[in-house]
Amino acid sequence: MAEYFFDLSASLIIICLIFAFYLNKYQRMSINRIALVSMIFLFDSAIAGVFFCITKYTVFAVFASIFSPLCLGMLLIYIYKSCAYKIVRLVVIFTVILPVLLAVATGVASCFIDNEVIWWTSKIANILLVMFGTFYLIRFRENTAIERIFLLTLAYFMVISSYVVSLVMPHIDYEAFAISILMAQIFLGLRNPDELYDVNTGLMGIEGFRDIIRKRLAYIEKNPDQHMYIVTLSLHGLDSFAKLMGDKNSTLHWMDVVTELTRFTHIASLYRIDKGLYVFILEKGDRDEAEYVMRKLDERMKLPFGRDDYEANVQYTLSIIDAPEMADSLTSVLNAVKMIALEGEKKNLNIIRYEDLDFDLEKRLRETEEKVRNAVADGKLEVFYQPIYSAKEKRYVSAEALIRLHDGDNFISPELFIPVAESNGYVVEIDDFVIQQVCKMIAGRKIEKLGLKYIELNLSGSDMIQGDLAEKLQRFIRMYSIHPSQLNLEITETSADAFTGIVEDNVIKLSHMGFNFSLDDFGTGYSSLSRVIMLPFDIIKLDKTIVQPPFMLEDEVERENARKLLESSVEMVSRVGAKMVAEGVETKEQFEALEKLGVDHIQGYYFSRPLPEAEFINVVKEMNKKAL
Ligand code: C2E
Ligand code: MG
Ligand code: MG
Repeated sequence: MAEYFFDLSASLIIICLIFAFYLNKYQRMSINRIALVSMIFLFDSAIAGVFFCITKYTVFAVFASIFSPLCLGMLLIYIYKSCAYKIVRLVVIFTVILPVLLAVATGVASCFIDNEVIWWTSKIANILLVMFGTFYLIRFRENTAIERIFLLTLAYFMVISSYVVSLVMPHIDYEAFAISILMAQIFLGLRNPDELYDVNTGLMGIEGFRDIIRKRLAYIEKNPDQHMYIVTLSLHGLDSFAKLMGDKNSTLHWMDVVTELTRFTHIASLYRIDKGLYVFILEKGDRDEAEYVMRKLDERMKLPFGRDDYEANVQYTLSIIDAPEMADSLTSVLNAVKMIALEGEKKNLNIIRYEDLDFDLEKRLRETEEKVRNAVADGKLEVFYQPIYSAKEKRYVSAEALIRLHDGDNFISPELFIPVAESNGYVVEIDDFVIQQVCKMIAGRKIEKLGLKYIELNLSGSDMIQGDLAEKLQRFIRMYSIHPSQLNLEITETSADAFTGIVEDNVIKLSHMGFNFSLDDFGTGYSSLSRVIMLPFDIIKLDKTIVQPPFMLEDEVERENARKLLESSVEMVSRVGAKMVAEGVETKEQFEALEKLGVDHIQGYYFSRPLPEAEFINVVKEMNKKAL
């Protein structure tokens, strides 16, 4: 009896410790610790259960009775920590803590006192726990993979059958063991809620945010009169701030900010979804409360943050997202948060309103990104060619390769998808495809025989900063046995602006190898002509935005000014000694005026639109047959 008592008191001490731990330090109790403790209980109860089956020693039954419900309780706390609804948390407390206490008390008592009421109460408490476990698993089923649901069903079957067995054949007791197996399944079946937390701040992180948004949107879909309000706070200039303050101070500083933010957690749950990106989801779908949080945050953020020896202001942008009004899916909510941060930083606004944002563009960009991602693999890309006419030689002398992205019967404009591809990095793959297609065309169609000296290719900034660009081009021209002078590489004024380091190395290397360069879109960037002269460009392409206005503007004065700008640009470029191509020439009038100004190369719809390869070859043959 003494030894029973010893074991029992040891167990009770553990229980007391755990509950003290839970009650005092719950907020800081890490998920990992909960998981660890529940795993220990799990193994203890499994071992005790097995030993009890074999030896029939009451002490093992005591252990199993204590550890099984405790373990289940800990697991449910583990679930509790991952739920963002306050109401669910309360339900967890009432449905978990009470049955756990009941199960432990009656389980222990039933080992010593042979009383049917106690025995039944213990069984009912266990069944209640199993039921609640099932309820939470169903509620969190999105976190559970299908094969795990299968294993869980098996485990539940074991538990239920163990009750039946213990009723029919009381001498065989595998109940504790079965419950252990069930708990192991629940444990393995759940996604690790640590993923839901942000390690830097201890706040809920992006995964938690995704979960809650999905659930709330599903709820709103069923209840169309409901709204969800999200207050977003984006902090700007974090990197330069860290440089200024040093890493340690700046971390302390952000923790101060976070502490301030947690003041609102009684009405809104707070998430840190990215560096410098905080969001509050209002517990109740109440616009006024959202406005209140935003106003209070605005007042606080205007004041400096800091400790004794330093103080600094934080650049920030606040906004309110109304779902489903402004965003009706997880992706659109996330995009809205990002757009608010970007726009706010760009326009230097502390508060930004829905009306200020261009969501149509955002939606189009998102769809485009999807299409760009698989464009090369799906064979959705095609290279078109637009011939370039020489006024002097009266024939086509070159052409520009322009990429087309098929979208059903239409094309998505490169004006739209190239910037998207540039920002997500796919442009390099796209341009590799274009380079290869162009090399193949040059070799296969023997363009020199058609009278074409070279084909112009657009390279983006991302291509130009590749360390192996020269080697790659070298490889392509060798593969197709073409000469580098048959390719002319177009770079835009803006990417030429960043003409340092690796870009410069690439240009020099490629020039030495015999490639020529064009400066594309001249007149749209901000670089000075003096800088342009320094660079080895053979051709300067006048952009359509300076070519067209002298012929299109309604207002006479404006038209005259545009004409002067065009004339002086042409004059400057010819003084530099570079060849010139005028882009966007659409009418006879434009062509003749440019010819008069001395612009030799003309590209534009007046001569031809960009065409698929075969059509382009025919058009060139037709024109050059007459001329040659
Ligand atoms: P860009 O290099 O300045 O190309 C000239 C653009 O002007 C082409 O637009 C062409 O179709 C258009 N254009 C030609 N003649 C006329 C005309 O008479 N009137 C008007 N309104 N437009 C004319 P596109 O094909 O839509 O390409 C847009 C831009 O996308 C290109 O501007 C270039 O910067 C980029 N791009 C196109 N293909 C590629 C590519 O393969 N790689 C990369 N990195 N960028 C490309
Ligand atoms: Mg171009
Ligand atoms: Mg251009």
